[in-house]
Amino acid sequence: MSLLNRFLLLLLCLTLPLAGWAKIEAQVVSSFTIPNEWVGLVIKHKIAHSALIPSGGELHGYSLNATDSRSLARAKLIIGINPELEPWLADWAQANRREKDLLWLYPDPLPSGSHLWTVPAEVKRMISRLKKGLDAAGVETSEDAVVQILKDVDAVEKDIRDIFAPLLPHERQFVTQHPGLESFAEAFGLKVTGSILQCSSAESADPSARHYANLLKSIRAEKVRVILSDAGQNPAAAQQLAKDAGLKAPTAVSFEYLQKPGTPGDTWVSMMRLNARKLADALQQP
Ligand SMILES: [Zn+2]
Repeated sequence: MSLLNRFLLLLLCLTLPLAGWAKIEAQVVSSFTIPNEWVGLVIKHKIAHSALIPSGGELHGYSLNATDSRSLARAKLIIGINPELEPWLADWAQANRREKDLLWLYPDPLPSGSHLWTVPAEVKRMISRLKKGLDAAGVETSEDAVVQILKDVDAVEKDIRDIFAPLLPHERQFVTQHPGLESFAEAFGLKVTGSILQCSSAESADPSARHYANLLKSIRAEKVRVILSDAGQNPAAAQQLAKDAGLKAPTAVSFEYLQKPGTPGDTWVSMMRLNARKLADALQQP
C-alpha cells in the first residue's frame, strides 16, 4: 500500500465514526420516554431525538451520567416536565447556562399528585406547549399531527372513564407505593388513600414505623382493598403491607415510563389504557 493510500485509509478510519456520530446526535433531548415520544409525534420532518432515562428507569432520584451530559451539551432543545420532578435537569441547565434551551412542559409549581402526564387535560396542555417550544426553536411541527394527538388523548380519557365506570363508590380507593398518582385518581373519580413511601425520590427506602402504622390504620378505617406496587421496583414493603392489612397481593403498575418498543405499553396511549385496566381489575375483584 502506498503512503498516500495508507494516509487516505487512516483519514477514512478517523472520519467515518465522526460522521456516524454526527448523524445520530439528537437535536431534541427529553428527560424520559414519555416526552420523547411526544416529540417524535409532533415534529413534521424526521429528526434525531432521544430520552436521557431509558425505558424502565424512573425520573425520581435520577442523576446524569457522562453520556447524558454530552447529549445535553449537543442538543438544540431540551425537554423536561417540571423542575421539581427533574431537579437534576434544572441543575444541569443552570450550571451550563442552557436555561433558555430548556422547555418545561409544566413550568408552574407542582400540585400534589405530581405525575401530570397521567392526566389527559394536562397532557393536552403539555402537547400544545411542546409544539410552541419546538416551533420557537426552529424545529418544524405538524398541525395535523397535533390535532391527531389531541384526539387520541380524548379517546384515551373516554376509554379510561368507561373502564372505571362500573366501580362502586367504595371500590374507588387504593394505596400506592410512591406518591404521584393523586392527580390521575382525581381526574377519574378515584382516591389515593396513602402511599407507602412518603417521597418519590426514595424509591427503595422503607417507610418509617409511624407512617406505616398510620397507613395501616387508614386502610382499615376506609376499607381500602387494593395496594399498588411499582413494576420493576422492590415490592417487599407493598407485600408486607398487604399481608399486615389482610389484603390480596399488591398489583404492579407502571405509569412511570413507556415500555420497550414492540411491547404492550410502548406508547403513552397503550401505557395509559394498560395500567388503567390493571388498576380497574384489581379494584373490582372481590
Ligand atoms: Zn413516580
